[in-house]
Amino acid sequence: MSTPPLAGGPEGPEALRPLLDTVLDALHHGAVTRSGPLPAGGPDAVAAHVRGAVGDVLPDTGTGADEALRTLIGTFAHGAADPAHPHCAAHLHTPPLALAAAADLAASALNPSLDSWDQAPAASVLEQLVTRALASETYPTAPRPDALVTTGGTESNQLALLLAREHHGPTLQTVCGANTHHSIRRAAWLLGLPEPVTVPAPGGTIDLTALAAVLTDLRGPLFVTATAGTTDTGSIDPLADIADLCDTHGATLHIDAAYGGPLLFSAARRHLLTGLDRARTVTLDLHKLGWQPVAAGLLAVSDTAQLAALGHTADYLNPDDDTHAGIPDLLGRSPRTTRRPDILKVAVTLRALGRTGLGTLVDRVCTTADHLADLIEKSPHLQLHQRPTLTTVLFRPTDATDHAVAATRRALLTQGHAVLGRARADGRLWLKATLLNPHTTPDDLAHLTALVEGSTTR
Ligand SMILES: *Cc1c(COP(=O)(O)O)cnc(C)c1O
Repeated sequence: MSTPPLAGGPEGPEALRPLLDTVLDALHHGAVTRSGPLPAGGPDAVAAHVRGAVGDVLPDTGTGADEALRTLIGTFAHGAADPAHPHCAAHLHTPPLALAAAADLAASALNPSLDSWDQAPAASVLEQLVTRALASETYPTAPRPDALVTTGGTESNQLALLLAREHHGPTLQTVCGANTHHSIRRAAWLLGLPEPVTVPAPGGTIDLTALAAVLTDLRGPLFVTATAGTTDTGSIDPLADIADLCDTHGATLHIDAAYGGPLLFSAARRHLLTGLDRARTVTLDLHKLGWQPVAAGLLAVSDTAQLAALGHTADYLNPDDDTHAGIPDLLGRSPRTTRRPDILKVAVTLRALGRTGLGTLVDRVCTTADHLADLIEKSPHLQLHQRPTLTTVLFRPTDATDHAVAATRRALLTQGHAVLGRARADGRLWLKATLLNPHTTPDDLAHLTALVEGSTTR
């Protein structure tokens, strides 16, 4: 076998072109043969199909690029839960924009790594420009806002807690809502911080009276996390009121806007985030309401000086004499070392769509959620939990037991007809639709509610 061609260099694109045709054909074939949001039959059927198609994972003699791409990508696509299907709506699992996926190919082909300038000369400048712009969008009046690129909301939340711990010391007490993402609790555990104090969140948002009482009782440095777009219901905590309480009690405020952050792009909905810029740190996640392939997380900070704690030297990457000679020191931009240029697809998306284009997409999926809520309210067989704030709609078959709600979700999943999530609210189990697909039509939604009505056994 001849030496396989590389993706980069002047010959890279010509080597890629026929391979990409194979990949695109296999993606198409997989989607068409699946014919639904996920493969039918449940985990055992999918596993049997994949095992049968893959056979020997490491054959003695390889099958060649074309066969390997065709077989494995075809199987991968056929067996996918495809968020581009309008009935794939369980999680904050976004359907990536084609232009963002196309940009991501260039990141793989050139493979810049953002741990040193000599591996990523232009990529590092692009990252600096885009992170600064997104930080300014988050903190419009701050003189020196900044943002780090992360693997998602989990890493952003972890970094926010790490920066606060470096500032306040290891007695830092986290205070979160019952609606807070689980990654905050895990981050406190990972960082060796005291177990978070949890404030009730009846109705999906932090109870301000209870928060005030907790902040009054606790001593020592406090780190309060609020959420702009909760994972279960898409609710937004009363950000400005929480910021006021943090000011009164001298607590550090972090806002997890992994889901709701892109409301900033919508002129009609930006006001829902009033108070966001009063947080010391803000988690953003463009692989949710930003239509990016994973990963596209960010942690925005109100002042770049807050990031000094991440400074780190490794002689082979950022020796002092190189730094003094003017070569940018990138190692303090992440606790990771090798790091993909995830900013490229984000930069392409921001430029191609502009603030208005992104805002229109945000508005469209919010309207889609409103429309689903309308359909549920009109159906005598379905009950709506509450009107959506973002794009999450909780509903359940009227009079169904929790057991029947769970069984309905699994039936739709096993039949390959719909991927819906589940959430507990007001002491009951609900079906959850997280609507991130801007192409979903009213007919798609009517079909989805009919599927739920048809699969419920009471
Ligand atoms: C999704 C989510 C996270 C975690 O983000 P990942 O990208 O999955 O790591 C954190 N917080 C909230 C509110 C989220 O919705």
